[in-house]
Amino acid sequence: MDNIGEADMKYTNQRVEIIAFLREHKGHPTVDEVYDGVRKKLTRISKATVYKNLKFLSQKGLLEEVNVKGVTRFEANFVPHHHLICRKCGKMDDFQSEELFDYSMKIAEDIEGFSIDSMSTNFYGICKQCKEDTING
Ligand SMILES: [Zn+2]
Ligand SMILES: [Zn+2]
Repeated sequence: MDNIGEADMKYTNQRVEIIAFLREHKGHPTVDEVYDGVRKKLTRISKATVYKNLKFLSQKGLLEEVNVKGVTRFEANFVPHHHLICRKCGKMDDFQSEELFDYSMKIAEDIEGFSIDSMSTNFYGICKQCKEDTING
């Protein structure tokens, strides 16, 4: 039988909670947002620990790391998708289009010396909220 130490169990529990939060959140939370969410259950966890766990999980391929305007965000949506990114507030929404995915992968077939297994496109613009704020303010 494996001898799992207490420290290992603690880490495992933290990672389970982080993944659970990301799945529930369905967005692209920052480290701060993940910390705020996870802290409700793991009251004694530190932000540095959350960060370390996020890095570990993304290295293991259990999370996806996305960078917008110099801010690292995390997500657990592994269905191939694209992103709609607001230039103003940095908000990021998922945009699913199998058509775009298939088309891009087809074009990329001809690229030599590089085997592609995935792709994602970023669309930049202004989100609905920011547009309304501009009109009203
Ligand atoms: Zn916006
Ligand atoms: Zn996404």
